Amino acid sequence: MSTTENAIASAEAHSAHNYHPLPVVVASADGAWMTDVEGRRYLDMLAGYSALNFGHGNRRLIDAAKTQLDRVTLTSRAFHHDRFADFCTQLAELCGMEMVLPMNTGAEAVETAVKTARKWGYRVKGVPDGMAKIIVASDNFHGRTTTVISFSTDHEARADFGPYTPGFEIVPYGDLTALAAAMTENTVAVLMEPIQGEAGVLVPPPGYLAGVRQLTRERNVLFVADEIQSGLGRTGRTFACEHEEVVPDMYVLGKALGGGVVPVSAVVSSAAVLGVYGPGEHGSTFGGNPLACAVALEVIAMLRTGEFQQRAAELGDHLHHELGLLIGGGAVEAVRGRGLWAGIDISPALGTGREISEKLMDRGVLVKDTHGSTIRIAPPLVISKEDLEWGLDQLRGVLAAG
Ligand code: PLP
Repeated sequence: MSTTENAIASAEAHSAHNYHPLPVVVASADGAWMTDVEGRRYLDMLAGYSALNFGHGNRRLIDAAKTQLDRVTLTSRAFHHDRFADFCTQLAELCGMEMVLPMNTGAEAVETAVKTARKWGYRVKGVPDGMAKIIVASDNFHGRTTTVISFSTDHEARADFGPYTPGFEIVPYGDLTALAAAMTENTVAVLMEPIQGEAGVLVPPPGYLAGVRQLTRERNVLFVADEIQSGLGRTGRTFACEHEEVVPDMYVLGKALGGGVVPVSAVVSSAAVLGVYGPGEHGSTFGGNPLACAVALEVIAMLRTGEFQQRAAELGDHLHHELGLLIGGGAVEAVRGRGLWAGIDISPALGTGREISEKLMDRGVLVKDTHGSTIRIAPPLVISKEDLEWGLDQLRGVLAAG
């Protein structure tokens, strides 16, 4: 048996089967390329679901992490440390906000957003105790914790995990009339992805986000934008909300905030909202740790230059132009997305998303399928135009082979 087969067999035997990875065992990676245990090279067109926006082994991030590893890695929040204030100040500034509450994973940050909105509802808005409601969208993906899957519409994500957390109302994504009708005096927040990533890179109809902003402002409801996947450069702007000139009340960030080096997530908002917390009311042992802050500070510095956003916009235009040419030829039914991010609905006659992904893997390109025959493309923003073009050639090849 080859090394790949051994590694996969052992993983199958000793890990829970809550994922179905493509049969590749990665040993190292650099920029937009990964190398497997047998020396085969693959173009990474997924980038850790956008956690690797700055590429594998990004020198600035690795150096920041190494320097911090030699200084101090964890204090817990029982003490201050010398990277914390800079991290919070600079992240708040990048977001045009005032305060930060750091956590580790995306789901934790979403949980934090839910708790913050509820507390704000009771303390500031005056919602009667226990009555707070949060409106979310159908086909959302906000993570895997018990509360977060309680408001999922994905059967697989929810089944057998009840009882579920109450207090959520689900409306169809993109439908402002339904959203307006769902709002009551007890609504504290609307929590949404400005582009739904896991659902297949669904971009809402033009004017939707601006409409959500207007409705939430009129009704004294917080607009919470989950930009964990869409934010930090992916769409060609720092935040996907910017495409509609919308500023939410709260950003929920994760993935690329840790540069694919360490898990870093955060809720970023105004002092009026995050000011509701007192000591002991929320926290995390690792949230805001020195190593996380050091890496995230470098991420923020890179985003401040605007260079990655510009790259995503320029290469994204090329990507969407090329993908657009594939529509109508029978192999591709639809393409959605913004910047270096695309959901491609392939004709089911050509296979499932999984089968297409495996064929791409055989040609040296790694992507991930989502529902049905849809695949997602989200390469690191550092990918070269030539490599992107090569990746597209492989996709064209798979589609032409049928
Ligand atoms: N929110 C969005 C929009 C996501 O795309 C994801 C992950 O894909 C999450 C939340 C959950 O993040 P994590 O897997 O780090 O918990």
